[in-house]
Amino acid sequence: MPKTSHACTAPRHHVHDGASFVAAVERACVERGLRLTPIRARVLGFIADAGAPIKAYELLDLVRDGEGPGAAAPPTVYRALDFLLANGFIHKLQSVNAFVACHHPDTAQHSVPFLICDSCHSAVELEDEAVVKALDARARALGFVPQAQTLEVHGLCAACAAR
Ligand SMILES: [Zn+2]
Ligand SMILES: [Zn+2]
Repeated sequence: MPKTSHACTAPRHHVHDGASFVAAVERACVERGLRLTPIRARVLGFIADAGAPIKAYELLDLVRDGEGPGAAAPPTVYRALDFLLANGFIHKLQSVNAFVACHHPDTAQHSVPFLICDSCHSAVELEDEAVVKALDARARALGFVPQAQTLEVHGLCAACAAR
């Protein structure tokens, strides 16, 4: 059963059950000719299950705890993160140095503003193309050639603000 309705700006929208999210990414990988290796799938599952931004060292701990002495070495985990980032399955939040799952894994890597709650630490994609396009257009009007946008808005989510 889905936990939430499909309102993309709902504060808890980023909560995925890990298994079904990994399955969706697996399908996207097949369609795009990418390979979701076991370690990539495992890292992705941990990020999706976290439900809030998760840091690299926390992921390393989860991988080690789950696999024991034969666990994947940190560089392997970092390479898995690079793959997931490059293909748009996760986002990196620069201001909190943590990762979140992207809830539309069927689209390619994309720029998207994030709303980050400083109380419960949830992070939600602000799905508004107009914001991204307006920034891009303003930059180009100044002769600037934009290549990536990092837009992270800090504050309180609706639930925390109402408390
Ligand atoms: Zn996304
Ligand atoms: Zn909150």
